[in-house]
Amino acid sequence: MRFEYPANVCFKCVRCGLCCGDTEQKARHILLLKSDADQISAQTNQQIDAFAVKAADKAPYIYEMKKKQQDGKCIFLLSEECSIYEHRPLICRFYPIELSTNEEGAYIFKVTDECPGVCRSEFCDLGERLQPEFFDALLNLARDRFGVL
Ligand code: SF4
Ligand code: SF4
Repeated sequence: MRFEYPANVCFKCVRCGLCCGDTEQKARHILLLKSDADQISAQTNQQIDAFAVKAADKAPYIYEMKKKQQDGKCIFLLSEECSIYEHRPLICRFYPIELSTNEEGAYIFKVTDECPGVCRSEFCDLGERLQPEFFDALLNLARDRFGVL
């Protein structure tokens, strides 16, 4: 399987919580696959409608996580920590990475610079420089969840 990824990108989550909800710049949609929602429901003993709403025209995602009214953050972000970390949805496992395909059918990984844990400097000492194995593992995770890639 062929994939392309940006070279010389370092990433280490600094737990800022930016990706867990709205910012001044943008409203965030925390989208869920059915398998994401089912797993969170099973692990938290909550009905899906307690933490998510139906998402229209976002296939293959069918739900969107509810956010707290007071700060626009995911309802599972408690004291700056993800309270369902082991069961967080695929989209959260991917962030700050996005996956798409090109005309030749190759998988293309992009990294968003919105995340303060991303660094592209060759002198970066923030975290690990992302290697092919990192992207390979993400691709396998997505394949498992989607079942079709
Ligand atoms: S925005 Fe980046 S650094 Fe901040 S919590 Fe999300 S992944 Fe971690
Ligand atoms: S599920 Fe966890 S990682 Fe994902 S947005 Fe909510 S608090 Fe953040």
